[in-house]
Amino acid sequence: MRDQLYINGQWVSPDLGGHLQVIDPATEHVIGSVAAGTEEDIDNAVRAARAAFDGPWGSTSGEQRAGWLDSLADALEQDQAALAELEVRDNGKPLPEAQWDVADAIGCFRFYAGLARELDARQDEPLALADPRFRCHVRHEPVGVAGQIIPWNYPLLMAAWKVAPALAAGATVVLKPSELTPLSALELAVAAERSGLPPGVLNVVTGLGAEAGSALSAHPGVDKLAFTGSVPTGAKIMSAAAHDIKNISLELGGKSAFIVFDDADVEAAVEWILFGIFWNQGQVCSATSRLLVQQGIAPRLLERLVAATRQITIGPGLEPGMLLGPLVSAGQYEKVLQMIARGEAEGARLISGGRRPKDLDRGYFLQPTIFDQPAEDSALWRDEIFGPVLCVRRFTDEADALRQANASRFGLAGAVMSADPARATRVANGLRAGIVWINCSQPTFVEAPWGGMKQSGIGRELGRWGLENYLEVKQVTEYVSAEPWGWYS
Ligand code: NAD
Repeated sequence: MRDQLYINGQWVSPDLGGHLQVIDPATEHVIGSVAAGTEEDIDNAVRAARAAFDGPWGSTSGEQRAGWLDSLADALEQDQAALAELEVRDNGKPLPEAQWDVADAIGCFRFYAGLARELDARQDEPLALADPRFRCHVRHEPVGVAGQIIPWNYPLLMAAWKVAPALAAGATVVLKPSELTPLSALELAVAAERSGLPPGVLNVVTGLGAEAGSALSAHPGVDKLAFTGSVPTGAKIMSAAAHDIKNISLELGGKSAFIVFDDADVEAAVEWILFGIFWNQGQVCSATSRLLVQQGIAPRLLERLVAATRQITIGPGLEPGMLLGPLVSAGQYEKVLQMIARGEAEGARLISGGRRPKDLDRGYFLQPTIFDQPAEDSALWRDEIFGPVLCVRRFTDEADALRQANASRFGLAGAVMSADPARATRVANGLRAGIVWINCSQPTFVEAPWGGMKQSGIGRELGRWGLENYLEVKQVTEYVSAEPWGWYS
């Protein structure tokens, strides 16, 4: 296990020499430790990133950067199996999910290698002006030093979503992974080292949010802050960015609705509802954690849903056949249990799960949980739980479904299931959310924009939007007329 920081292409010990324990959530055992980076370490990392940006990296072509991104993907690919296992030990998720994540992370580096190449082709785009005395072209220049702070639910994948577009754009990076799941980000640094990425282009500083994270968000040498995490932390990052007007993008929480109409196929609906809330133990920002079922189909759907939920296998992520692993940490486990207790106290009906599985007395395991009929103004229905807890309410008609779905301070995602394509499209268009799925929930593609409305965030990641996050747009306008300007003469 690596207990050092990766700064300026070197493995260095943290300035004050502190360390943080890493715990396997399936066993509650300490499996190692990582460096607790401090303000000084962040300062060193930002200086290294600045020097790299001001050095040869700043004038690389997209084609050159694409070469490094592909090499990084190759380096990750060589360790793909080990990386997936590491992710399970650190985060708890079932191995097939971790394998999926690692493959997606590799795909993300390859995708942005492609966009880096395309960037060369659209550099210096001529722009037609109505005034023929001037000629204009538009440049896309890297934003500078990017400070990137990521959460624990998809450790390597979230790192890839941040690092790949930044490097493709020509920015340099200081990455701060979550203190709960720091291991795969350090392996990303190893892959960067192996792929020959120049020193200082990618720096990885592990550490606590309140120390390393807050130092990074306040550092005057950072040009861009990219954050994924909770709303309260997002607000702190936004305040820090306001101090010196940093460019900022935020991917925050959600409480997304899944609307199922009477004409939906019950079996398909059950399958996607389960995937929408129990994948990754429900620790998914876009989880469709609020189920809205039309009255007519509700009894049949709920009966099948509860029966299918009880079939979900729960256990350590490395054990074959497991569909639900432990929650990520003691703190998260406690938080979710408290929300379940609050839901029961608020009068919602617990129709499945809600307890520790009887055969698992260690690890942060929780039965997949379903509450029926929480009040619309209850915490259970309104607040993000970030665990395997589904809340169900009924609706009468399309307007009622949309009203309930949109009555949320979040606007990350939403899903609709109906056999009527026109209705599904109307509802998709009516949802105030950045991501909408029709007849499915959660499939995520590197080509498509990702991000939310309202308190779910600012900006979009992935696709070409992810690249734009790390680009500044510059107009270059030239006076080409033979006539003098003649304003003062
Ligand atoms: P969190 O906000 O507690 O932590 C996220 C990161 O911020 C961690 O690296 C943490 O160390 C750091 N941090 C904490 N305090 C900080 C501070 N004061 N200054 C700077 N950095 C600080 O969130 P979490 O518990 O790791 O993740 C769960 C949340 O993330 C959920 O709300 C979830 O919805 C959200 N999330 C959103 C997306 C998305 O794409 N929208 C994806 C994944 C997770």
